[in-house]
Order: sequence, then structure tokens, then C-alpha cells
Amino acid sequence: MLITKIKEKEKILNVLNSGNVFIFKCFGCKDVYFPEEEIDLLLTELKCMDRMVRLDYLCREEFVERYLERYKDILKDVDRIVVFSCGVGVQVVARHIPEIPVIPGCDTHYINGFQGLTAQDVDCQMCGQCRLNLTGGICPITSCSKSLLNGPCGGANKDGKCEVSKDMDCGWVLIYKRLKLLGEEDLLKRCPVDIMDYKLIIDSDKKE
Ligand code: SF4
Ligand code: SF4
Repeated sequence: MLITKIKEKEKILNVLNSGNVFIFKCFGCKDVYFPEEEIDLLLTELKCMDRMVRLDYLCREEFVERYLERYKDILKDVDRIVVFSCGVGVQVVARHIPEIPVIPGCDTHYINGFQGLTAQDVDCQMCGQCRLNLTGGICPITSCSKSLLNGPCGGANKDGKCEVSKDMDCGWVLIYKRLKLLGEEDLLKRCPVDIMDYKLIIDSDKKE
């Protein structure tokens, strides 16, 4: 199972101050913890409630397609979209609107228990440190065979397929292409080497 925790206020504030930002908040799976009240309190404090819409099941491709159609007039002037949801919801929104940077407002954490099944072909491994803001909304942990965090292994084929499986696109090629489309490919050079805090996963494993 998973729980979703809001990111640090400072990080969210930085994004909200970076141009014209619109906010999607998932209604949230009711079987798992989703910090809806905390998000509302923060957005109220930051005077951003009028830039937010609350939507059902951002993990569902068919719903997201309809939402993007519904809000297309607003979104055409937007610089970034902040999504408060689990990692799957953020990725689905980013996939359907690849020309606008999509930023996660939450980290998705693992807790013991059955995760449930999803019909989506994007996945979240509940790493507790969501980095989709750095990777064009494509999860490096689930899209790369080796879950590399700081760039490709260098083994991808010329056609962009992973060296581990020719049936699979190299996640880092996809990330590079998405960042290029966004004009943000420099992010790959500017970001410091990111060391994952596995304690977050180990500690959450011990809960329950
Ligand atoms: S980086 Fe990937 S695994 Fe980690 S929370 Fe985000 S979507 Fe999930
Ligand atoms: S080829 Fe790409 S997806 Fe495959 S392991 Fe290397 S970086 Fe990861």
C-alpha cells in the first residue's frame, strides 16, 4: 500500500512563485492516506486556492484526457502544473500534456500491505522522494531497468531501446526527449548527483 505526504513548504512555495502555475489536486484514494486537509491549509495560507481544481482519479488516463480538455483555455497560458497526487497521477498528467512542466506536490511512500492493481502502464515504486520535477514527469525508478537516478547507463541501443530488453524503451532516452520538448534538458547537467535515501523505504517497511 502507499501513503502520500505533502512536500516541504519551501519547495512548493518555490514552484508556486515560478510564473503562472495551475494546480491539480487528486480527490485521492480513500483507502490510503492522502493529506487533503494539509494541502488545502497550505494553499489557503499561500493564497492559491483559486488556482486549484480538485479532480477524481488522476491515475486514470481517460479521466485526465477529459480534464485537460475541460481546462484547456486556462492551461494554454500556464507555465507549470503542480499535481498533488501519488506518483502515478503526476506521470499520467505529464504524459498527456508533455509541453508543460508538471511538478509533484507530494512524495509517495510505501507502507506494508497489498498495493492493488492498476491498469496503467506507468508505475510508481513509492520511493518517498518524488523527483518527477527533474525528469519531465517520467519516473526514472520505474522506466529504467536499473532504476538509475542520475542519467543513463550508456548502454541504450541506437534506436533508443534498453540494453536489458530490446522490447523496452530506455527510460532515460524518454526522459531526455521529454526534457528537450520542455526546453529543460539543461536540468540534466545542472542537477547535483542525487543520492537516494533508502532509509525512507527501510523505515516505512518496518511500520504496521
Ligand atoms: S520518483 Fe517515481 S517511485 Fe519515486 S515517488 Fe515519484 S513516481 Fe514514485
Ligand atoms: S539502457 Fe536506459 S533503461 Fe536500460 S538500464 Fe540503461 S539507462 Fe536504464
